[in-house]
Amino acid sequence: MMIVAQSLGKTYSSGGRPLSVLAGIDLTVQGRELLAILGPSGSGKTTLLGLLAGLDLPTAGSVRIDGRDLSTLTEDERARLRAETIGFVFQTFHLIPTLTALENVLVPVELRGPSPSLPRSRFDAHARELLERVGLGGRLHHYPAQLSGGEQQRVAIARAFVNEPIILFADEPTGNLDAETGATVIELLVALNRESETTLVLVTHDPELAARADRVLRLAGGRIVSEERRRSH
Ligand code: ADP
Ligand code: MG
Repeated sequence: MMIVAQSLGKTYSSGGRPLSVLAGIDLTVQGRELLAILGPSGSGKTTLLGLLAGLDLPTAGSVRIDGRDLSTLTEDERARLRAETIGFVFQTFHLIPTLTALENVLVPVELRGPSPSLPRSRFDAHARELLERVGLGGRLHHYPAQLSGGEQQRVAIARAFVNEPIILFADEPTGNLDAETGATVIELLVALNRESETTLVLVTHDPELAARADRVLRLAGGRIVSEERRRSH
């Protein structure tokens, strides 16, 4: 599954004055690639991730996922595409405060429904396995407010994996983790990229994580200012 962004731009128009955040972004993400996006705070990394994932629409240019221009899809079609193919780890986790860790991880599977590889009878066990894999087997029934920032982040990572997405977007997935937990999460991401052939598009400040990428892009002032290919995947 390939993502192609062409002449991508985003201008926010909050508070009256237009704010151009991204302009002229041309980018192709190959299936199974591990792409890291680096850049200073405010350079548009989160905005770019949201556009590539179809969470938000550009004000210029286009994003195509396997040839389908996201701007031509209805909101429902984009939601379905996301549910079936995309996982997203938000910078601010976006956990539902009234649900436990286990229930939060189950939200995307409930939304998508059963699939050949995951019948309903396996939902619960699958979510528990993922929480165990991120080291939270002992926190299944904790609510987000009862979890540390790093633990909430790991719940968000387990939730993003639960539907076995073809493309996983993660916004600073190790940003709130200590070195040891961060290393565990990096190994998990890399293993998923390798074993499940998941395409990973990551925003990160973490040199350990960027070092594992096939390709590193740097954003500044809303543009791609450098591209470094480490290895072909
Ligand atoms: P980064 O993730 O690289 O720190 P962001 O993509 O979050 O950058 O934001 C880039 C710029 O766009 C920032 O200056 C931010 O204030 C602005 N911005 C982000 N989201 C919005 C929004 N919804 N409305 C208006 N401005 C926004
Ligand atoms: Mg950001």
